[in-house]
Amino acid sequence: MENEHKISILGSTGSIGTQTLEVVRAYPNFKVMAMSANSNIELLEKQAREFLPELVCVVNEEKANELKIKLSDTDIKVVSGKDGLVEVATYKDVKTVVTAVVGISGLEPTIEAIKAGKNIALANKETLVTGGHIVTALAREYGVSLLPVDSEHSAIFQSLQGFSHSQVKRILLTASGGPFYGKKRDELLNITPADALKHPNWDMGAKVTIDSSTLVNKGLEVIEAKWLFNVPVDKIKVLIHRESIVHSMVEYDDNGVIAQLGVPDMKLPIQYALTYPDRLKMTDNVLDFTKYQKLTFDEPDEDTFFALRLAKEAGTMGGTMPTVFNSADEVAVSMFMKGKLSYLGISDMIAKAMSEHKNIVNPTLNEILETDKWAREFVASKIER
Ligand code: NDP
Ligand code: MG
Repeated sequence: MENEHKISILGSTGSIGTQTLEVVRAYPNFKVMAMSANSNIELLEKQAREFLPELVCVVNEEKANELKIKLSDTDIKVVSGKDGLVEVATYKDVKTVVTAVVGISGLEPTIEAIKAGKNIALANKETLVTGGHIVTALAREYGVSLLPVDSEHSAIFQSLQGFSHSQVKRILLTASGGPFYGKKRDELLNITPADALKHPNWDMGAKVTIDSSTLVNKGLEVIEAKWLFNVPVDKIKVLIHRESIVHSMVEYDDNGVIAQLGVPDMKLPIQYALTYPDRLKMTDNVLDFTKYQKLTFDEPDEDTFFALRLAKEAGTMGGTMPTVFNSADEVAVSMFMKGKLSYLGISDMIAKAMSEHKNIVNPTLNEILETDKWAREFVASKIER
């Protein structure tokens, strides 16, 4: 097809992955060449039969073998493991890779995709949190674009179009505040996974939903913004905005503020990352201002939700500290989901891991992966004792 835009999707079975496929469905000039899941082969098989990619990867080996049999009546090649993920990320003729896996698992395939000259539609914020200095330097070296999918970063990116970067005074990063906005620590003692999974405005994967409730997600986003837009952490101001209509803003030297607004739906940021600088038609998701009598803004409570403060510290220090912040959180959230750690324990574990870690400045990929391993083992050992 003329003007065909070939893409691959890391994590096609997740929340961002399935919404990316909705965008693809609406625009036939997108062609999915390759996609991946961790283990959900039921959904991946359905997706493969509908979108007919040339390659699919299931990270879990056993599940990959099952899928191979299921798809044996097709020409679709099935691969597995971390190497398979890299194959999806570097697949021939793909122009843009959508990184929609969760956690630090996105880092290595993204690095390989950049080295293969692919543009990155980046949802996996953990990639920049852990390896921001490597990824941004490689993107410059290989002349590829890092196009934000995260709604706030898409809003900032949109608000930067046409203006001089050197005249940016501050970035105003909005946060919904999550389900526990306004609560204090003593009201959060008995929070269950079900409570924390009830996000007021956004329907997302489990990990990012829990992270939104602890403000860990906003912390990760501060570090993500630092790398994407090359601004120091102290120029990134988090603002609680309960309605999730103003997706973020840029304040310039003349105090003019440019914002991007829209209903809370990931399709626009996903679509914009794939079509930038074009804006394609969207039939649904019209913002009806009369439904919102007021838009509110507030300071975040960094005493109760102190993971945000920890993230800013980690982001300011740089080195391996943001990896410790992220990896400690990944383990702590998974322990919380299994009922092995209290809700408040998540932020406590991050603080403990950060205070025990000797920061490595300008780490190599290997040092980042070693740090990830250390932080996981550290948190697991504190919980299992
Ligand atoms: P989900 O949990 O919904 O989906 C994760 C995807 O990654 C699934 O396809 C899953 O496969 C796969 N996966 C899980 N673990 C691994 C692993 N270890 N190795 C390889 N693949 C894996 O996550 P989301 O879509 O919510 O989030 C994806 C990323 O986008 C995250 O970094 C998140 O922070 C970011 N993001 C998400 C937003 C949202 O609205 N959901 C908004 C902004 C950013 P399987 O289905 O088989 O488990
Ligand atoms: Mg976000």
